[in-house]
Amino acid sequence: MGITDLSPAELQAKYAAEREKRLRPDGAAQYREPEEVFDDFDRDPYVAWTARDPVVEQVEVAIIGAGIGGLMAAARLMEQNITSIRVIDKAGDFGGTWYWNRYPGAACDVVSYIYLPLLEETGYVPVEKYSKAPEIFAHCQRIARKFELYPRALFQTEVEGLAWNEETGRWLVSTDRDDAISARFVILAGGLLHRAKLPGIPGIKDFKGRSFHSCRWDYAYTGGGPAQMMDKLHNKRVALIGTGATAVQVMPKLAEAAEQLFIFQRTPAGVGVRANQPTSDAWKQALKPGWQREQIENFTRIVSGKRVEQDLVQDGWTEIFLKNPAVWGLMNEEQLKLDAANMAAIRRRVDEIIADPKTAEALKPWYNQLCKRPCFHDEFLPAFNRPNVTLVDTAGKGVERISEDAVVVDGVSYPVDCIVYASGFEVGSSHLRLLGFEMHGKGGVSLTEAWEQGPSTLHGIFARGFPNLIRFSLVQGGQAINVAHMLDELAQHTAWFLRRCLDENIAEVEPTRDAEEAWFQTVLANAGSLGAFYAQCTPSYANGEGSRVANPSAMRRMAFMGGTQEFIDILRDWREAGGYPGLEIKYRHNNDNG
Ligand code: NDP
Repeated sequence: MGITDLSPAELQAKYAAEREKRLRPDGAAQYREPEEVFDDFDRDPYVAWTARDPVVEQVEVAIIGAGIGGLMAAARLMEQNITSIRVIDKAGDFGGTWYWNRYPGAACDVVSYIYLPLLEETGYVPVEKYSKAPEIFAHCQRIARKFELYPRALFQTEVEGLAWNEETGRWLVSTDRDDAISARFVILAGGLLHRAKLPGIPGIKDFKGRSFHSCRWDYAYTGGGPAQMMDKLHNKRVALIGTGATAVQVMPKLAEAAEQLFIFQRTPAGVGVRANQPTSDAWKQALKPGWQREQIENFTRIVSGKRVEQDLVQDGWTEIFLKNPAVWGLMNEEQLKLDAANMAAIRRRVDEIIADPKTAEALKPWYNQLCKRPCFHDEFLPAFNRPNVTLVDTAGKGVERISEDAVVVDGVSYPVDCIVYASGFEVGSSHLRLLGFEMHGKGGVSLTEAWEQGPSTLHGIFARGFPNLIRFSLVQGGQAINVAHMLDELAQHTAWFLRRCLDENIAEVEPTRDAEEAWFQTVLANAGSLGAFYAQCTPSYANGEGSRVANPSAMRRMAFMGGTQEFIDILRDWREAGGYPGLEIKYRHNNDNG
């Protein structure tokens, strides 16, 4: 069916019918924690465990998380000559998502020249337009070396708790290595999508073959590596569960390595053109100082629906937003038409590439383009034409059951040796789930208690009762397609602020209740059309699997949806306003110690 076949009303009815197929009563509760299924889930497959003595120390700033957020926070603090810092992460190195996600085919779908931070500062230019994961991981290490962060990092270390000491005006960070780190400020940069989830498929624990989640790839079983053919799969039947951004990248690699690949689909992905290309010498040589910031800002303006004179990045994202700057808004007739045209092109691409008509029909997505994260790939669809690849479409229902040796859909067993779960990550969970530890602020009150009625923050960054605690979080915070840009903005904002705290002898900061409430009203005021947009979407993590209810606590967990550029401007205006509006400030007296 093409765009001309359906009127806007018919199209919406089709979208609604497809959505209906996927709604389920358990909503977001359908998923399971990997630890319930795999005993050794959280064992780091990449770096051997090393013993060390506990660290007992005082620092100015403790940073929890060594992914791009923590890395950028540390680098920007070093730039501000704040060198008494400690970065803590359970991983064995810097990199965060790029440390853990080493699955074959892993790559970033944001253009490398704007995603990889500090390119000009480190003198590095990515080798291609869309970086593969190993290049990004190596770049994180390059940044850490350049800013002398390795001696300041504690890896393979999990934070177990944070406690505010009112006497000393410091946080005590305790860890599973018995460290006791006393920090004047703490930055929580624990990541956004990093707690893996598994589908709650009956029988999932019964499977006797090998199975793992995409973010803990078992190369010992598959052979090969992120850039090498998985040579141990040639005689294996493999199931891949999921068709999200991860599955789209990993599927062609499995298809070329496995004897047989079954890919189990619940909702088809919308897969646009990738058109990756090597970085040309001519392009590199034409770059003028300041080029990276210019490109980063240009992209963020475009995807925030702002006008620009020129598209400096030219990728699938800018194409979507330049065609329809209000793509994330309420779907009026005009926008529906634009969206219909984009989605029709995506479906046409399926018809052009897929040889088998039944497979082609099943691979066509029917929803507004931004209901699911758009994917861009040039090998995913062609791989379905291989004789060893079978698409098992579950008509929106998901896998029915897993047995000792097979994946079952609609009563049919597909015997396999290995199951790969590309089933995604938790979104919007509580800090206890996402960070894995509790924090106790003033009066020993835990964040769980303080936020019983839902979160309360200024800019998503500061929270009353938790002085000197800075959060890089989606909860009432800024969201972005180029997440690395948002994290760097937060890092620069924080470094700017902490430099001032140190220079001005500021001992404690926390937001007023009024400022928090005013910020929540701003978040709410900007949620309107987006909430309505997602409410009509096919289920996904963006709308609580279709069951998001407008209860006040859930509303309080929302990100600021007024656009990435607006959020950045709000932070800039706040800095420029002077006097740190909305913060209560306690100054240090010269005879204070600590
Ligand atoms: P997703 O949550 O996007 O995908 C999970 C997949 O598992 C979905 O296709 C889902 O189906 C499917 N699934 C869940 N339960 C079942 C079930 N019972 N039976 C069958 N299928 C099931 O996770 P990803 O890891 O793919 O991506 C997560 C996010 O990570 C992305 O949205 C993106 O933000 C980020 N990412 C970014 C990349 C980048 O290039 N920058 C690359 C990869 C990931 P359904 O759709 O029906 O829910």
